[in-house]
Amino acid sequence: MSNIDHSQPRPGTRPALKPVPIEGRPAKRRMAFHRYRKLIHLICLLIFIILPFFNVMRFDIPRQRFYFAGYELWINEFGILFFTLLFLLYAITAASMLYGRVYCGFMCPQMIFSEAANGVEDRLRRLINRRGSRLSVKQRQLAVIASLYTLTGLASVFLAFVFISYFVEPRDLLQRLLIFDLKSAGGIAGAATSLIIFLDFAFLRQRFCKLICPYGYLQGMLGDNHTLIVHYRDKSVEEERDCIECRKCVRVCHMGIDIRKSPFQIECIHCGECIEACDEILGRFGKEGLIHYTWGEHGEVVTDRQRSFLHWIGLRDAKRAVVILVLLFYASGLTVFLSMRDNVMVQVSPVRSTLFSLEESGTEIRVHNTFRVTVANRQSRPAELRLSLVGLPGASIELSQPLQLGANESVEKIFDISVPPTALPSGVNHFEIASVAQPGDESVNFKMTFITPSNK
Ligand code: SF4
Ligand code: SF4
Repeated sequence: MSNIDHSQPRPGTRPALKPVPIEGRPAKRRMAFHRYRKLIHLICLLIFIILPFFNVMRFDIPRQRFYFAGYELWINEFGILFFTLLFLLYAITAASMLYGRVYCGFMCPQMIFSEAANGVEDRLRRLINRRGSRLSVKQRQLAVIASLYTLTGLASVFLAFVFISYFVEPRDLLQRLLIFDLKSAGGIAGAATSLIIFLDFAFLRQRFCKLICPYGYLQGMLGDNHTLIVHYRDKSVEEERDCIECRKCVRVCHMGIDIRKSPFQIECIHCGECIEACDEILGRFGKEGLIHYTWGEHGEVVTDRQRSFLHWIGLRDAKRAVVILVLLFYASGLTVFLSMRDNVMVQVSPVRSTLFSLEESGTEIRVHNTFRVTVANRQSRPAELRLSLVGLPGASIELSQPLQLGANESVEKIFDISVPPTALPSGVNHFEIASVAQPGDESVNFKMTFITPSNK
């Protein structure tokens, strides 16, 4: 108990409580936020690294592809792309409205790496102070700075590599990195990103969240009086306050703020570490902590299980129910779009620069019409496309053999369909071109017209 760091009480408040012998156990700590946050940070870091490598999410700019949840969307599939981005945007907005800035506190890469940089700097300082006792204070400071900047530089190159992998295929990027390519767009972007990340984590860190990040400012507009916040609740000034002014909640705060001043400080990222700190300190006196996650300034504490399950998970009014319904609508629409999407896109159109042509071969004359087929294999395995004719008696198609396409390959072919002049009535004849793509047996029929001369 002697290691509790009590600061001087504020004027007008009672002196800090002395730790008293507690009968039974101290009040139970609600949640080890620090430990859980670090675990979530680690999981998020792994996800951040893995996503582009397994094409779970990547906007491949050179190839003009958007990889999402295992699907490879082409840039001309604008509808699905737009819907996917809208869904992601809406999901972030809905999460902010319901749960405040939990993304900032638990999942944001800027916060994760800023805290990691702070932790590495602290450890380096302790290590060099312990091992370098023969060095002067200035030499030790220089050693800390040199080793910190070296580690930050290496980490910046790695993080820039992962970040650029969200836009450029990782194997291409690695090859450019290995030959130190500073001429291509990918190489220049990698170098510039490494420099920005280095400056960010060497000098800026959490200042970025306080001064630059638009999401923090946006949060102020998205939240309302039922949004999850971190709130300090104590008795009124007239009564005897329970806060012992130990300021541990301030010391553990990564953003360097005092949550007791207001729950609506722009810097607060709702990480919950001050909750754990206060629980720990007051728990030693057998008391409950004074800082909580609450549903708005006047709402109940999150751990209050008296309410219904829907209230407990944050669905507290009609507005929230509508937001969740819209989100589900987006999610189901996106799922339907993705499941209906053809892996092999086929387009067939007539080439009408000449309506028809007549070709003689020996004693036989045939009427020819020209068509164009455009095929895009939008998957990472080879595909085969077979075309056939429906409703055009006596006709033959030039593309009688299946078209072979490699992974992600596009092909355009001009081909003729021909018939003997006596096989069809003169003028316009309606028929269909049937396409069947393998694997997947995706079939489409295109309505077409075949034109024959009127004086056959
Ligand atoms: S005040 Fe508490 S919840 Fe807010 S950032 Fe600081 S430690 Fe996290
Ligand atoms: S709110 Fe809790 S942690 Fe913060 S100063 Fe008061 S007693 Fe200490």
